[in-house]
Amino acid sequence: MTTMPVSGITPVPDHNAPDSADLVVRNAKIFTGDPGRPAASAVAVRDGRITALGDDRDIAQHVGTRTRVVDALGRRAVPGLNDSHLHVIRGGLNYVLELRWDGVPTLRQALAMLREQAGRTPKGQWIRVVGGWTADQFTERRLPTPAELTAAAPDTPVFVLHLYQSAILNRAAVRAAGMTRDTPDPRGGQIVRDRNGDPNGVLLAAPSALILYSTLAAAPALDEAGRRVSTRHFLRELNRFGLTSAVDAAGGFQNFPDNYATVIDLARTGELSLRIAYHLFPQTAGQELADLERWIETVRPDEGDEWLRLNGAGENLTWAAADFENFAEPRPELAAGYEGEFEQAVRLLTENGWGFRIHATYDETIRRDLAVFEKLAADGLFPAGNRWFFDHAETATPHSLDRIAALGGGISVQNRMSFQGSVFAERYGAEAAARTPPIKEMLARGIHVAAGTDATRVSSYNPWVALHWLVTGRTVGDLTLYPPDRLLTRERALALYTHAGARLTGEENVKGILKEGYLGDLTVLSHDYLSVPEEDIPHIESVLTVVGGRIVYAAAEYEGLDEALPPIAPAWSPVAHFGGYQATPLPSSTGARQADLLAEAVAASEQHRQWRVARGFAPETPPSAVFDPCFVL
Ligand SMILES: [Zn+2]
Repeated sequence: MTTMPVSGITPVPDHNAPDSADLVVRNAKIFTGDPGRPAASAVAVRDGRITALGDDRDIAQHVGTRTRVVDALGRRAVPGLNDSHLHVIRGGLNYVLELRWDGVPTLRQALAMLREQAGRTPKGQWIRVVGGWTADQFTERRLPTPAELTAAAPDTPVFVLHLYQSAILNRAAVRAAGMTRDTPDPRGGQIVRDRNGDPNGVLLAAPSALILYSTLAAAPALDEAGRRVSTRHFLRELNRFGLTSAVDAAGGFQNFPDNYATVIDLARTGELSLRIAYHLFPQTAGQELADLERWIETVRPDEGDEWLRLNGAGENLTWAAADFENFAEPRPELAAGYEGEFEQAVRLLTENGWGFRIHATYDETIRRDLAVFEKLAADGLFPAGNRWFFDHAETATPHSLDRIAALGGGISVQNRMSFQGSVFAERYGAEAAARTPPIKEMLARGIHVAAGTDATRVSSYNPWVALHWLVTGRTVGDLTLYPPDRLLTRERALALYTHAGARLTGEENVKGILKEGYLGDLTVLSHDYLSVPEEDIPHIESVLTVVGGRIVYAAAEYEGLDEALPPIAPAWSPVAHFGGYQATPLPSSTGARQADLLAEAVAASEQHRQWRVARGFAPETPPSAVFDPCFVL
């Protein structure tokens, strides 16, 4: 028996019987998600599947000499989480190159990280902060300025992506991207100019985010060995929060098969620590149908296994049908007549037994898409047993939801409003924001709804931030968006984050709940999700994440029990020094409250200083005084 210090279980020497487990987790408060047996205290996993659930005594008989037994020390355990809309493949290919501001509580700390990182970033490389944060999360409630980025990193190009709205570049990045006063604005984007007509370092999605991504694409990429290490560490970072599955939404600059080679190879060598169901997204406008035709000839939905499987096409099928969700800008008007090509794409997929997911933020887009689906349904072509669902659907109206329900579609919702809720409320009003997205109305119609984040470029990938939003209706800036009757119970929210995701990929009979015969995917939590104060939910992490009986993440008392990973490379990687999501103490603990108050006081005094400087009441101090790495909270 490979042991953790465990009392109460003695392996019988000859008990290396065929039914002895590979892994037993005992002394846990297990929430199974299975209405037939909602609670248990121990679980046994063998050959990747759950063989028994019950109390510690029931499970003792599954312990053999080779069984690894973990004492959960009375902690809460839940089914492994499943983010139903995560750009996990693209995120993995770039993770070690990025400085993540996810969870960083102050702009002051964010800039100090940047300055420190500039000191170790070699010439030719960039510092990239690519989403997962918003100005609202900072005590200072504002974005950094290009001048602050230049002060923190005078020579290293810095690219900071803020949601799908804007990017802020330092002077070195403007130079490295080759932007001059003669560079024209790309379609749907704006290069902000200073009074001399030179780019000032701010790029705006107006409303297309393409300007932001194409600028980022100028930065160097990793080679294949680097992409493998990067992906493995990103998956481990997701395991850190209890994620065991994700449904990849593909995305811009994620071409099939080239950009899937890394995860396909990791699946082949058994090195994935997260199950991925993926989608295929045509990359080039004008070639979408040709791409779909080629894929239909070469691969099949459901091809793969429980670790990596193809789930269909999307989240874009044709570029012209994509609405950009920049709530800081007016809703984009999609081209007249996009339906012709879109109908051909959907027809092609359904005729060939392919399901799909389709990105649609606004009801105006959803209505036009639905008209196409209804036309195909009248021909008997739709949905023809294929799994299909809308992504986002923030402003879907009750009437559109009725139509989605009638066609048997699902909806994948994300906590983009956690990050963009205040901007949305400013543009459309608090009343409209309170209905965005209309999750309760979706559920009331029996529509299948799964939850996720849309990480890594808008939201953070931290699922507990998303669960907190579902349960409290609050943004990361603590704005309350929804009245109490529009909130979900913690159990319901968790079901959207577990079993509902499995249903989107046709795997509802193998994962998403803890039950005999199901996959051994579970997480033991640092704090009890079902009983902690609401404000603590975003601070939950996993202390033990198990996928198919393998311990893929272990912390606290279990440190060192998880599988070894190769060291993070390159050595200057921001992730090697800062990690990913920046954890902060539980708000309910008194010490943390004190620290918060102090951070606010510091930020306030800095704002006050700047206010005084602007009015000539105080002398301008050199920027170095603003970045005080010794006083980072
Ligand atoms: Zn999308």
